[in-house]
Order: sequence, then structure tokens, then C-alpha cells
Amino acid sequence: MNPIPVNEPLLDGNEKKYLFECIETGWISSEGPFVKQFEDQFAARVGRKHGIAVSNGSVALDTAIAALEIGQGDEVILPTFTIISCAAAIVRAGAVPVVVDCDPDTWNMDVNLIEAKITPRTKAIMVVHIYGLPVDMDLVLALADKYGLQIIEDAAEMHGQTYKGRSCGSFGAISTFSFYPNKHITTGEGGMLVTDDDKLAERCRALRNLCFQPEKRFVHEELGWNFRMTNLQAAVGVAQLERLDEFVARKRHMGQRYTELLSDIPSLQLPRSRTDYAENIYWVYALILNDDVSFGTQEVMQRLAKYKIGTRPFFWCMHEQPIFRKMALFDGVSCPVAEKIARRGFYIPSGMALKNEQIEQVAKILHELFA
Ligand SMILES: *Cc1c(COP(=O)(O)O)cnc(C)c1O
Repeated sequence: MNPIPVNEPLLDGNEKKYLFECIETGWISSEGPFVKQFEDQFAARVGRKHGIAVSNGSVALDTAIAALEIGQGDEVILPTFTIISCAAAIVRAGAVPVVVDCDPDTWNMDVNLIEAKITPRTKAIMVVHIYGLPVDMDLVLALADKYGLQIIEDAAEMHGQTYKGRSCGSFGAISTFSFYPNKHITTGEGGMLVTDDDKLAERCRALRNLCFQPEKRFVHEELGWNFRMTNLQAAVGVAQLERLDEFVARKRHMGQRYTELLSDIPSLQLPRSRTDYAENIYWVYALILNDDVSFGTQEVMQRLAKYKIGTRPFFWCMHEQPIFRKMALFDGVSCPVAEKIARRGFYIPSGMALKNEQIEQVAKILHELFA
């Protein structure tokens, strides 16, 4: 049996053509024309005024935190069930991450738990849409309004997704995306901040470019980073963006097919295909072992690996990270739902290049394992 990688991107559109253009013209740095084109087209797609391309989705979060002037003494509320990038950006800025548990069905932050975590020091809520379904935004928006909090929206897994018809990535003071190869569209490595605020956009642009000044280039009032995206990456991004609708449809089809094939395995909790505010776009096709399964995710993933089927475990909770424990950031915190799914969840091959036959093969092996 041929290997079925956990992710394989699809690069058979205009990627080659646009990359060739970069080489032909010599525009390979961030100064090249594809960067601006990608920023403008991506921002328009999400319905935002500004797009600021950066080198990955993690540094997009660092940039957002810095642009919003979140730092020492500030608290930021975020889901515990997320990638390290979210909490790392907060901690590196000297702010305090305050985590909330997640919903057992959507795996997104349980928005009903947010208000109890708000203190006079709370500055922002970092919303992270997880695995394919958006966070239930209405209550978050109401709380942000009521308490005067900023929303930072991590939409890294949500290209093309909507919440009640409105684009994910349009909810934050700043919203961020990643273009890592397992996202719905990729630039190899890459990220984007989007915002409607002219001043914030300008700050993000300065921060990603070492805070060079237009007039006195090498005189610095502030410290930034070099987080620039190259023209080569943006060229791939422009080609990928042309196919976003097709890619989202493709992912939805994959998700539906997996669900059809796996729904008769009682040992597995499958992803919800929809809520009343969105239809799943299956960033990844994720599974949770039900309580009656006597073995763990490690064993399932090892057994699938014997058939050369790639898998990944779920995120590990922020409040259980050894590094944050050492820093005594989450003493006494418990989030039972997230702790459980982090231990019982894994995901199966779900990249854009995945073929129907491969989906069927994976489903067949899973049936054998759980027979
Ligand atoms: C992938 C991802 C990131 C990080 O993006 P990189 O481009 O890999 O740095 C951040 N947040 C979420 C929710 C992600 O899925």
C-alpha cells in the first residue's frame, strides 16, 4: 500500500507560472509586486480594508499583540485547546494568558465561560476557530462591546469559512491567517494580518519591517521584526487564492465522504458537519476515541502508521504545557473537556491533494482496527 500522508498540498494551478515570473523578472524579495497583489486580493476576499503579509501565522499573532499594545500586566482570554503560537505571543509580550475550556462538540472555546474570566486587567479576547467550525461569535462580540475589549481573531484554519454568512477573519480588531501547507491555501510558509483600521494596519506594516522609518530609514523609535513575506511566497499565494472556493468545496466533500464511511463505527466521535451558524470546512478530519475504547490514541496512530497512514494527535492544552507550568502561569487551572479531547483525539489524512480512493482506504483500515 502506498503511503497516505497526513497532509499533501495541491499546487497544480498557476503556481508554476507565477513563480516563473518571479525568476524571470528577478523579483524574489518582499519588494516584488505579488506581495501587494496577494495582500489586496486576500483582504478583499475576507471583506477587510487592509492585508499585511508576514512570514507565518505565528508571527502574525506576535505582530497583532504588539500592534494592539498588549503587554506587561494585561490579560488576554483564549482557548486552552489551541496551538502554542497563541499563548506564546501573549506570554512573549509580557501579558498573561487566561484560558477557557472548550465545547465537547465543536472543540471551540466555550463562549459561556468567558465572562467569568474577565477582570479589570483583561485587555483582549483571542478567538481561535478550531479544526473547521467557527467559534460562536455573537456572545464574544457582545462581551467585547460590554467590557471594552479588543478581539484578536486567529483564523488560521478558516480560509473561506463564514459565521452566520459573515467571513471568518472579519471579526477581530486584527484577524490573522496562516498559509502553512496544511491550511486551505498555502504559500509554503506564510501568514497575513487583516484589519479595517488604518492606524493598526500602518503599525503592523512597520512592526513586520523592523520599524524602519520612511524619512530616517535607519533611525528607530521602536523595535520591530523582519517578518516579511517574499514575492515567491506571495506568487504561490495568488495562485492558491484563485482556487479558494474550489478548495473549500473539496474539503467539504472529503469531510462528508469520511463521515459517510465512518459513521457506523460506534467507538469514534466524528466531527460535527454543521452548527446553526456554519457548515464545517474540515481543516482537518478529526476523530475522538469514545470512552469504551480500551486503547489510546498513541496505539491507534501507531497501528495506522503500520499501514503508512499519516496521523497527528490533537493540540495539547495550554494550561498543561510543561513550559507554562514551569512559569507557574496556570496554577490550579483545570479544563476537563479540553483535557479529555487532547488525550483522546487525533486526525487522519485530510490534505488538499487527498484522493477519494485514499479516503476509502483509510476508512477501510479504521473499520478493521475497530472491528
Ligand atoms: C497553523 C496555525 C497557526 C500557526 O501558523 P504557522 O504559519 O504554522 O506559524 C496559528 N494558529 C492556528 C489556529 C493554526 O492552526
